[in-house]
Amino acid sequence: MPNDVELLILGGGCAGLSLAMQLAKLGPRAPSTVILERRPVYVNDRTWCFWGDDKTPFALQAQHQWSSFKVLNAGLGVQVDCAATPYRMLAAEQFYTAAVTALAAVPQMHLRMKSPVVSEPQFSNGRWHLTSPMGTLSAKMLVDTRPPHITAKEDVLLWQSFYGFEIESSEPVFEPNCAELMNFSTAKPERVAFTYTLPLSHKRALVEFTVFAAAPVTVEALTIELENAIAQRVKGATFTVRRSEQGLLPMGLNFPLSPFSGDGPSCARVGLFAGAARPATGYAFQRIQRWAIGCAQAIVSDRLPIGHPKDPVLQTWMDTLFLKVVRRQPHLAPALFMAMFSQVASHRVIRFLGDGGSLVDYMAMAWALPSGPFLRQLLSRCCRS
Ligand SMILES: Cc1cc2nc3c(=O)[nH]c(=O)nc-3n(C[C@H](O)[C@H](O)[C@H](O)COP(=O)(O)OP(=O)(O)OC[C@H]3O[C@@H](n4cnc5c(N)ncnc54)[C@H](O)[C@@H]3O)c2cc1C
Repeated sequence: MPNDVELLILGGGCAGLSLAMQLAKLGPRAPSTVILERRPVYVNDRTWCFWGDDKTPFALQAQHQWSSFKVLNAGLGVQVDCAATPYRMLAAEQFYTAAVTALAAVPQMHLRMKSPVVSEPQFSNGRWHLTSPMGTLSAKMLVDTRPPHITAKEDVLLWQSFYGFEIESSEPVFEPNCAELMNFSTAKPERVAFTYTLPLSHKRALVEFTVFAAAPVTVEALTIELENAIAQRVKGATFTVRRSEQGLLPMGLNFPLSPFSGDGPSCARVGLFAGAARPATGYAFQRIQRWAIGCAQAIVSDRLPIGHPKDPVLQTWMDTLFLKVVRRQPHLAPALFMAMFSQVASHRVIRFLGDGGSLVDYMAMAWALPSGPFLRQLLSRCCRS
């Protein structure tokens, strides 16, 4: 592995590997690159879901897809048709294998596993320098995908904590054509919670218990509720757990990333904690793919790596208002989501959730939602300032 390269990528997860795959497509024209990943090996640790037609990145590698999904609260349900842009599930192992294979074919690109970054990069004499167990690395450009250390409670508006099991039931209890996006639990003052069920066959499904709250929820607490949710779904049948997945996603970031010494335009901070996720939903996979395409184009055109594009001001304002309402009054969230899914045209809701929402989509959303909680949130802010 060379010590002096054009591009250094810190973190070989979704963002780091997505950029690397885009660059690998350039073959001999790809910049010399080192990717430092702290994990020793890739395992099937998650599934990425997104809505999209066949042209959407990774759509055709998806393990499963659904042409409709349901949202349920207090015995009422809304079924949303998404046949034009099915909801698709990509297994992480598929993505990691595609990345490792693509990188192996390009000799000047190097993925270093088991390589945690333990010191902060420094910029001097027009290059980035990083001290690592393999010696000092130097690069013209740096892309940092590592998550920052978040300490203050106010740094994130709402945390999305979830834990899930992919199970195999002894009886056919699932309906494989329809995903259950949200099945709300009884509201509690400090949180809103729902079960997310992705049926893969009549007997197999990924079942996740998810909480939106001002503070993260432990896996231990989530496990109890996940087991209850599974028991309700399998209705007495026996089941085996094939694998588990766990996530803690920030919804609405409220902090600047601290710059490195000598930080300059040749460094981009990206990933889940740097604007990759859609604030109101936590969906990040397709936003990362779009960023990776744009960033690779910038690099190959002799420009510098770019970060995630800033969301439009109105979208950020509406997302923040929505998250603040849910943070202050989580018990209202099920009714807000039900109103959104039942009253807004499905293609608009899907664009809103996934990221491609237009001004008209946002207006339709605002029109469908009850205005009271949002006006109260705005008034409370005016009264405080
Ligand atoms: C279980 C789970 C399910 C999700 N499902 C969806 C979904 O269905 N749809 C969707 O759109 N989004 C989903 N997300 C959100 C988002 O798409 C993922 O979190 C995505 O992996 C974010 O990409 P990333 O590159 O920012 O972070 P990661 O993929 O976590 O990559 C960061 C990488 O940096 C490495 N790293 C960290 N510190 C160091 C260090 N010091 N040195 C070297 N390497 C380091 C890590 O090992 C990791 O590989 C999910 C997230 C999780 C956790």
